[in-house]
Amino acid sequence: MTKKGLLLCVCQGTCPSFHKMDVFEVLNQIRREKLVDFVALHPQLCAEDGDEYLKTLLKNSDISELYVAGCDPTMQKKMYRDAFEQAQFDKEKHFGVDIRNMTTEQAVEAIKKLLADVVNQ
Ligand code: SF4
Repeated sequence: MTKKGLLLCVCQGTCPSFHKMDVFEVLNQIRREKLVDFVALHPQLCAEDGDEYLKTLLKNSDISELYVAGCDPTMQKKMYRDAFEQAQFDKEKHFGVDIRNMTTEQAVEAIKKLLADVVNQ
């Protein structure tokens, strides 16, 4: 069975862009509604060990949709490109959403909208 996952990426947790929200509560709200099969928080996916994390997660995986809430989706695509290629993960299965400077509720709504948009596309 294929799986949908949500990663939250938060610029090490030190960037003010993520200080208005409770990142764990964002993940909990998505979990409570069972909108994806798994969630995770990573401090910095665009760092070297973030690449390693993505490769380890995605290589030979049955993940059909990988949602990443963090910075701008276009930036995400550029920063994760090598890891996706090395893991042979189809980049079209990655869906990003920018949640910087949002509150907990705004971030949850933005993620839910992305999930709905993908279902309806
Ligand atoms: S991938 Fe984006 S959200 Fe994550 S640490 Fe890098 S710049 Fe920040």
